[in-house]
Amino acid sequence: MIRTLRRPPTPLLLSAAIPMTHEQQHVRVEFDALKSLLLQIFLKHGTSQTVADILAANCAGCERDGAISHGIFRIPGYLASLDTGWVDGKAEPEISVVSPSFIRIDARNGFAQPALAVAADAIDAAVEATGIAVVATRNSHHFSALWPDVEPFARRGLMAITFVNGLANVVPHGGRAPVYGTNPIAFATPVSGADPLVVDQATSVMANGEVRLHALANRSLPEGTGVDRNGIPSTDPHAVLAGGALNTFGGYKGSSIALMVELMAGALTGGQLSFENDFGDCLGAQTPKAGQLLIVIDPERGGNNDFARRVSVLCDRLIEAGQERLPGARRYENRRQSTLLGIPVSDGKLLELENLAGN
Ligand code: NDP
Repeated sequence: MIRTLRRPPTPLLLSAAIPMTHEQQHVRVEFDALKSLLLQIFLKHGTSQTVADILAANCAGCERDGAISHGIFRIPGYLASLDTGWVDGKAEPEISVVSPSFIRIDARNGFAQPALAVAADAIDAAVEATGIAVVATRNSHHFSALWPDVEPFARRGLMAITFVNGLANVVPHGGRAPVYGTNPIAFATPVSGADPLVVDQATSVMANGEVRLHALANRSLPEGTGVDRNGIPSTDPHAVLAGGALNTFGGYKGSSIALMVELMAGALTGGQLSFENDFGDCLGAQTPKAGQLLIVIDPERGGNNDFARRVSVLCDRLIEAGQERLPGARRYENRRQSTLLGIPVSDGKLLELENLAGN
């Protein structure tokens, strides 16, 4: 059934016989209801209204899209970071426009998404004036998927690429000790007549959240995912999480891409490198204090005013050539179903959230 939380169930939507694409759950919750529950939780744990609003929409959006490793599963980690004082839930980011296209943000130890939101007008002005905005955020905590940071630009006809570093939990190729974060990259571009093409991936073999989901389910990791605390290859998610580390994807080539992300997000921005994170007395905190680089480009400045159609030609060719699906297609399908039927959430998880919100 669809739970609207505070509104009666909507039986009309129950009869739809569309198969679910992610794990079968017990209850379905409307996006606005889930967002409002999460908002209350963030507010209760000391964030400002603006921060609560942005994080709640982001987290509910991940759950809606089936980006489960960055949905409500992350709430305890957010709260541990807030409760220990590791992150400032009321931080007011400082924006400096240092050249017509280069924007610096000091997130002042707050979350990354509200910092980017504060820079929205400056980004638009830079893209309008110069065709490109380079946004370097430091002292920020990014604990979510990256697609919400880039997809909205592509919906407005722009290209966007972003890089984030994090906590050292990835060994460089051939190494035994963690140096890099799982250092994700996301890229979004408009596609004529379709949803934007969005690629969003860690540069580790697997995102850390996925390893934690494997650990919760006591499920082995695929060979080659990571190492234990002694640098010995391991398929045990508990060993990888308890002092072990992940491998970068794609051997030495992926390792070099992780290096590039580390420098773009952690150094160019004036932020910390992943291995410089130190939780100190903030025991249990989970969000990485790191950096983020975002580049937004107006593709029409490339001289091709039919850019989005060119992207669509390439996408069609990929499918004709036998590629199973486009990146982002799974998420969009989950979004479509969740919008129609409600977001699937287990009864137990919903109860936990309601308790956290004090309902
Ligand atoms: P996945 O390996 O699940 O997916 C990576 C990308 O490949 C997605 O765009 C996905 O699209 C696409 N894809 C997957 N399978 C196929 C296929 N068969 N054909 C074509 N495309 C495909 O992601 P990761 O595990 O690497 O990362 C998961 C999330 O973790 C990301 O959202 C990332 O931003 C986040 N993350 C965040 C970090 C942070 O510090 N904040 C750190 C590391 C990761 P689709 O989404 O539609 O499946």
